[in-house]
Amino acid sequence: MLLLAACGRTDERAIESIAGNAMGTTYQVKYLREGNSGAPVKAALEEGIVEIFSEIDRQMSTYRSDSDLSRFNASRSTDWYPVPAGLLTVLSTAAVISKRSGGAFDVTVKPLVDLWGFGSQRPLSPAVPHSDAVAAARVRVGHEHLSIRREPAAIRKDIPDLEVDLGAIAPGYAVDRIARFLSETGVKSYLVELGGEVFGRGRRPDGRGWQVGIERPTDSRRKVDISLELDGKGLSVSGGYRNYFERNGTRYSHEIDPATAAPVSHRTVAVAVVADTVMEADAWSTALLVLGSARGHDLATREGIAARFATLGLQGVESRTTPAFESAALLPAQ
Ligand code: AMP
Ligand code: MG
Repeated sequence: MLLLAACGRTDERAIESIAGNAMGTTYQVKYLREGNSGAPVKAALEEGIVEIFSEIDRQMSTYRSDSDLSRFNASRSTDWYPVPAGLLTVLSTAAVISKRSGGAFDVTVKPLVDLWGFGSQRPLSPAVPHSDAVAAARVRVGHEHLSIRREPAAIRKDIPDLEVDLGAIAPGYAVDRIARFLSETGVKSYLVELGGEVFGRGRRPDGRGWQVGIERPTDSRRKVDISLELDGKGLSVSGGYRNYFERNGTRYSHEIDPATAAPVSHRTVAVAVVADTVMEADAWSTALLVLGSARGHDLATREGIAARFATLGLQGVESRTTPAFESAALLPAQ
């Protein structure tokens, strides 16, 4: 859903790229070679990036059974469960955004994600689950059943079969970690992107900031809707328009509304959020997509969130932004 701006020929020679696969998707890091006096060479940066991903994987992956999070999910104990600092940071932010979004963002929604066929085990032909199954999954969901303790760092569930999935926030956290690592090692100007989550800092050789295009949310043609310049800001785009199934004319997307225990069915197909951290942008873009433009725009305006909603209307895709987005989006091109 994001297109990173193509750089001119002169730019290209001054820019170094590192790319790969992580967290079930692809990532790319671009940075300026010049002006990073004392910064490590590419191989050392690459090694640092890979180590950050592997640490996050060991803590938060639900695709490996030995991660801290998977062990917590498998555990039926309702006692305090010690967690490492990174996992505590992500869960604390998730808890805050669950409250501020009135529960629209909820990392305990995993049983419903799985039931509707959007989990790690994807059915060949997805179907609407039986209402009894929805009711059974629903009682295992609710962010209020998850408690967080800072000192010593630990989490606790008050129902034994509560499960947590950080797929809507951990990628943003990963981008923040890599950005911080680059800054700390002396890299002054860079762009980090992981599966639709992006952070940019500094200028390119032509003096312009890093530009990112947001795609027009349609099924097929990839076309840039607007471009933004990111300097010290993160951007996340959530959208259900490529990951969905259709039954009897209803479109079921991978975003679950915890209030209805069903995939969202309104016409808002993508939400972009700009924030100081990508972790916050990631969680908010998911929350606001769940709420849709009608409810989400009011909330985002009240909460001072920089958001842009794309909704399918009679005239095609209609976009709506919050005042904070207008000031955060430095470069409304086209
Ligand atoms: P994102 O692309 O960041 O919006 O994350 C989408 C993923 O988050 C989905 O594939 C689900 O695994 C998970 N998810 C779905 N609904 C919610 C929700 N209401 N709150 C938190 N995570 C959710
Ligand atoms: Mg998200």
